[in-house]
Amino acid sequence: MKILVLNCGSSSIKFQMFDMTDQTVLSKGVVEKIGLNGSFLKLVKQNGDEVIFEGEILDHKIGIEYVLGVLSSKKHGCVANLNEISAVGHRVVHGGEKFNSSVLITDEVVAKMEECIDLAPLHNPPNLKGIEAIKEILPNMIQVGVFDTAFHQTMPKYAYMYGIPYSLYQKYGIRRYGFHGTSHRYVSRKACSLLGIDYNSSKIITCHLGNGASIAAIKNGVSVDTSMGFTPVEGLLMGTRAGDLDIGVVTYLMEKEKLGVETASTLFNKHSGMLGLTGISSDFRDLRKSVAEDNNELSKMAFEMYFYRVKKYIGAYTAAMNGCDVLVFTGGIGENDVMCRQGICSEMEWLGFDLDNELNSTIRAEEALLSKPTSKVKIMVIPTNEELMIAEDTLSFLQ
Ligand code: AMP
Repeated sequence: MKILVLNCGSSSIKFQMFDMTDQTVLSKGVVEKIGLNGSFLKLVKQNGDEVIFEGEILDHKIGIEYVLGVLSSKKHGCVANLNEISAVGHRVVHGGEKFNSSVLITDEVVAKMEECIDLAPLHNPPNLKGIEAIKEILPNMIQVGVFDTAFHQTMPKYAYMYGIPYSLYQKYGIRRYGFHGTSHRYVSRKACSLLGIDYNSSKIITCHLGNGASIAAIKNGVSVDTSMGFTPVEGLLMGTRAGDLDIGVVTYLMEKEKLGVETASTLFNKHSGMLGLTGISSDFRDLRKSVAEDNNELSKMAFEMYFYRVKKYIGAYTAAMNGCDVLVFTGGIGENDVMCRQGICSEMEWLGFDLDNELNSTIRAEEALLSKPTSKVKIMVIPTNEELMIAEDTLSFLQ
């Protein structure tokens, strides 16, 4: 059974075709620069060969036509014809309070998704364009929406409310939603299945540390707290996002620097975090290099801040769940950056987190248990796979 997973961004479409009989990826790729000069489709075949197709890809519908054309082409395709595709699963960023799980897409569901646009004006419209395009090109195709926010809809009210007038929650839906839900769900489940423990009676903390970063507390199979909030800017220090910040700083700077709303948003979302602190890069690899080669003091400070904040959240979530059985690292940084995992887990033994530093130093981008056998909490690396989670959710509607 073949399932196509689409992740439509403002100017890009990422795609992966799965054969769900054995969960293999038959083909994957990305359409980039939609509506811009130099648009192209990059295909990565199952054998690893890459092919680039240049073309005038003016909008998402044309982009998806390209994708379907390439996937079913004689020379480069992985299906003989489009009828072989059983369903399409879409990543959708924001489901607000309307969606607490993945859904079969109908006209009614699309109308509800449109009502969530206000909450994610940059992300939800391209997600909807992808759904609309498939409906136009393949009108009978089964489509499923998988939301970044849905997994965190189980948070208790005391965890998701902000201390602002309740009327603003009622009027605008201002509350904490959380993101990266598909990743937190995937790695927490995978950790339990690898450890052979019951997901529904475990306490798990998952650290999704990528360019965007969030941490989640998962108790008895449901998310009870997460660090991102109304938008993805809250919580951990990130590549370019500030994370937790006294809102007094926002109003102070808006006044002092005469910042408009958009400039302020750009400052805290795109020019802050590791990039803003160091002035060098948002990428951990560049920052590691700046320490190794130049002993850069700002990079060292930024790393310390980064570790400290993740550590504080781990402590908070251990308290929130009255314990922790498993700590999982994922995302580009969590999966690869040995020193980051070591920095976060140092001096956490009292709480039960005892990392095997030697073992940790050998693990990159593979499923592994990194804690000492005596550690109360199991510490793991699980490479995330949001696309597979979306494909699995999509498959569940076919079954
Ligand atoms: P993601 O958003 O999950 O794709 O993660 C991207 C980030 O992961 C990059 O910006 C890097 O900071 C980090 N990253 C990726 N590979 C490595 C690596 N080998 N070592 C350290 N950091 C890495």
